[in-house]
Amino acid sequence: MAHVHLEKVTKVYPGGVKAVDAIDLSIADREFVVLVGPSGCGKSTTLRMVAGLEEATSGVIKIGERVVNDVPPKDRDIAMVFQNYALYPHMTVYQNMAFGLTLREMPGLLSRLLHPGEARSIKKGIAAKVKRAAEMLEISHLLDRKPKALSGGQRQRVAVGRAIVREPAAFLFDEPLSNLDAKLRVTTRAELKRVHQRLRTTTIYVTHDQEEAMTLGDRIVAMKDGVIQQADTPLATYNQPRNRFVAGFIGMPPMNFFEGALRIIGGEMVFEEGKLLSNKVGPPDGDSRPESTAQAGIELTLPGKGFRLVVPMRLRDALADRVGQRIVLGIRPEHLHLEAIVESCPIEVKLNVIEPLGNDMDLYMETNLNDRVVARVEASGRAAGLRGDSQVILNVDLRKIHFFEPGDTGMNLSLSSGFSSEPAHALA
Ligand code: ADP
Repeated sequence: MAHVHLEKVTKVYPGGVKAVDAIDLSIADREFVVLVGPSGCGKSTTLRMVAGLEEATSGVIKIGERVVNDVPPKDRDIAMVFQNYALYPHMTVYQNMAFGLTLREMPGLLSRLLHPGEARSIKKGIAAKVKRAAEMLEISHLLDRKPKALSGGQRQRVAVGRAIVREPAAFLFDEPLSNLDAKLRVTTRAELKRVHQRLRTTTIYVTHDQEEAMTLGDRIVAMKDGVIQQADTPLATYNQPRNRFVAGFIGMPPMNFFEGALRIIGGEMVFEEGKLLSNKVGPPDGDSRPESTAQAGIELTLPGKGFRLVVPMRLRDALADRVGQRIVLGIRPEHLHLEAIVESCPIEVKLNVIEPLGNDMDLYMETNLNDRVVARVEASGRAAGLRGDSQVILNVDLRKIHFFEPGDTGMNLSLSSGFSSEPAHALA
């Protein structure tokens, strides 16, 4: 087993596409790290560079203490599992699982042709490894079958088994569950986690599915445009997203975002929803509008029509120098409640669509300014009496809200002070 270390690793494909941009990432021995992000963000390229299937344009890749940039894939002591299982169709499950090991042992087997006893013991060793992996994955009863006689889930387990028997320093998984149906994905995911808990082999796993990332990873590495945005535990990523991109990517349904401005109204710091009209400093000439729109330095379209939310005390220091500026409020769907709760602030919205999910329901709504809002609430209680096309009061849990700088990757301003604003990949 081994740690994997990437230092300023960059990949520029012929034609100039910069798929991976100077990423730094240290994966500890035994760690399960998930690279997650939207299609095209550079996750597969990163994995393939670790595997040796793509050459890094610059930077250093280490597996254990060894720099592997120039080491061919077969000598990197890694095992890779892909989305398409790539099993040999003419071989049985047993042969598929044993094949890699047999190849590796071939020199030993050939040199011992004259010593059948020793050759037999090598073969026995291989058989024992296959048996152990098959038991772990509960595919022992399938060892004599050919791949075409297996379901998709069983084939993927064979592919995982083939990787396990090689006892590599690291496992690399590239979207291994994408070809499975929803239910099978969930069960196979749990199996992969169980296998990792038993073997503790260093693992790098690529997926575009945030739920898979949350459930599998010791650590999640969220990527966008070839850059690591955050590398953290699943809970820290969910609770303390570093920027708006991570906040919106992790969590389902995604976080609600509202453009607006921070103001002081009646001595209180208040967020006012609204689109920016201009970035003029100070009130326009002859302005006679209420304090809320005039004194803050920027103008909003339809001032006074958006909802207002009192900024909780815990955030006021951190946001003090943002008063009068554009800001983005982030609220997760599960932090909007129909019932009143402690430390909350009510906002009025129009309910359009109700999606029942069994125990919970998703409410699709819009604000006065037509900003979309999704809430995930328990299906019982007040929710049971809701109808579409009606006005609803939502209670925002003020303990859970976030504020971001404007822009797709605007920094999270509500994280505790002392939070670094260095580029994320410098901290990964
Ligand atoms: P992901 O795995 O996150 O979907 P990839 O690593 O596959 O992303 O791709 C990252 C970027 O590199 C994308 O813009 C993609 O189009 C580009 N890319 C991937 N492979 C190649 C290639 N062989 N040649 C040129 N561009 C590529």
